[in-house]
Amino acid sequence: MKFLVDFMLGRLCKWLRLLGYDAEYFLPGKKSDLIYRSLKEGRIILTRDTKISKKKAIKRILIKSDYIEEQMGQLFRELDLQIEYKKVFTRCLVCNMEIKPIEKEKARGRVPSYVFQTQENFYICANCDRVYWKGTHWGLVKEWLARYKQKS
Ligand SMILES: [Zn+2]
Repeated sequence: MKFLVDFMLGRLCKWLRLLGYDAEYFLPGKKSDLIYRSLKEGRIILTRDTKISKKKAIKRILIKSDYIEEQMGQLFRELDLQIEYKKVFTRCLVCNMEIKPIEKEKARGRVPSYVFQTQENFYICANCDRVYWKGTHWGLVKEWLARYKQKS
């Protein structure tokens, strides 16, 4: 499942990337370009704009809430999203590229030293060069997702 996400829905886009979904932003512009891209790349459009035609796009979801928890809830309900834990944290949150594991030594000096000392697994985005690691936030995300899944 791939997405084209309205730039107004920035947090939602990041959460989808965090879960490992291919989620690209779109900026306000020609609606025909948006629909063309959705069809060509097979992406579901997530938007708050009621004017975006329902008919031509493969699928369009009108996001109702302002709150990320409710937005995610809507997607879980309407798309039957599944959380695949092995895909969580496999994408760069900034550019949507898949991140690749790197040797620990290569992360030296590029992450805070306490992170370097306490973490073993590091990943890099080939596009923007950001280094990622599964730190404490990783545990929190897993907890949140587990709780969330039970509710939905
Ligand atoms: Zn990146």
